[in-house]
Amino acid sequence: MEPVKVGICGLGTVGSGSFNILRKNAEEITRRVGRSIVIEQVGARRDNDACDTTGIKVTRDIFDVANNPDIDIVLELIGGTSVAKELVLTAIENGKHVVTANKALIAEHGNELFARAREKGVMIAFEAAVAGGIPIIKSLREGLSANRIEWLAGIINGTGNFILSEMSEKGRDFDDVLAEAQALGYAEADPTFDIEGIDAAHKLTILASIAFGIPLQFEKTYTEGISRITAEDVAFADDLGYAVKHLGMARRSKTGIELRVHPTLISHKHLLANVNGVMNAVMVKGDAVGPTLTYGAGAGGLPTGSSVVADVIDVARTLTADPHNRVPHLAFQADALSDTNVLSIEEIECGFFLNMTIKDRAGVLATITQILSSNEISIESIIQREREGSELVPLVIMTHDVKERNMNAAIASIEALPDVAGTVQRIRVENLA
Ligand code: NAP
Repeated sequence: MEPVKVGICGLGTVGSGSFNILRKNAEEITRRVGRSIVIEQVGARRDNDACDTTGIKVTRDIFDVANNPDIDIVLELIGGTSVAKELVLTAIENGKHVVTANKALIAEHGNELFARAREKGVMIAFEAAVAGGIPIIKSLREGLSANRIEWLAGIINGTGNFILSEMSEKGRDFDDVLAEAQALGYAEADPTFDIEGIDAAHKLTILASIAFGIPLQFEKTYTEGISRITAEDVAFADDLGYAVKHLGMARRSKTGIELRVHPTLISHKHLLANVNGVMNAVMVKGDAVGPTLTYGAGAGGLPTGSSVVADVIDVARTLTADPHNRVPHLAFQADALSDTNVLSIEEIECGFFLNMTIKDRAGVLATITQILSSNEISIESIIQREREGSELVPLVIMTHDVKERNMNAAIASIEALPDVAGTVQRIRVENLA
């Protein structure tokens, strides 16, 4: 049988990892697919010493790859959303299948790209876009397809998890750990996407669509990063039996779908609380299977390349299948996607951890608990500590589940009190039951 011909665009971390897996495991891959997969061409602005391209066509213009009539599958591994989108659309127009690791591209432009791919009868595979090496897309889209998915929760940004893990294990400050993460190459020079939650929101958007059969709605995902979490928050949470994790949460409720990414307190007893360092994990609760957990490397050239090459293999296996019989891009038939309402954060109900600084005077605590009570918020526990030589002391309150709207009102009233200094830190709490 003719080999399947692949063109790789971008030879950076993921491009070189994918390149080397395709070369190193070529024999094993052929045994799996029933035909060989060869790298026909590479599009890269510069050479990468980690990749021996001897005997492979190399072009400096990635569009040469998308326009090459010999290529069956284009690997978009350049990142970004403008040139990458143009590249993917060009490949689709030319009748080529696409494999991408680009979460931003899929989360923000996936609806349009999938529609065009359907019209042209080609596949866009994107396993590597969520949680790097963990096959969570395949798991949700195929392995769990018998289930009505109730919720999923994921630690899906390795950089953020590394920072929070270091803060927790060593009591270090956020800025200090971020600087180390940058030095280690875990965080970009501009870490905004990681620490402000945008990267995780892209991934959660994709997971939620596949879990619930809804269109991709990145703009409706509530996004909050970890940059305002302090070493003190982490230490207090630890005292109360919780880890602070940056969690992506998607849940069906009676009134709609929750789609949110934010720092979250999770009991130390829960498996997700023990996912540390740069590792990723996604928990999915299906109505038939119950809770499932996948865990592994969420980034890096070889782990992410593992997902890219698995997609290449999947596409190669189904090249000759009738397009109507392929697994749909978003797991559900395109004309069966539902328009279920995505809830605003104000409508969501969960527990809260509040950390504030108050004047150590009689009656202050009573006033604060009165404000909480008048907003229908019940308290689970309180910690108040002395601070030697200071009139200002920290006060930490854990609440039972309450609507965010009520909590907003209570926090506004508490912050207006003359005996409360600065703002009230709020971190949501999930029991993941
Ligand atoms: P990277 O190391 O920066 O590699 C990107 C490569 O693409 C670079 O070699 C870059 O060349 C090249 N490139 C960019 N624009 C180009 C253009 N217009 N023409 C030709 N080449 C171009 O990035 P990466 O980490 O591999 O990430 C690639 C994609 O994978 C992104 O979408 C990312 O979100 C996703 N991803 C990455 C990881 C990970 O662990 N790194 C994990 C999961 C998903 P120059 O060097 O010349 O700029």
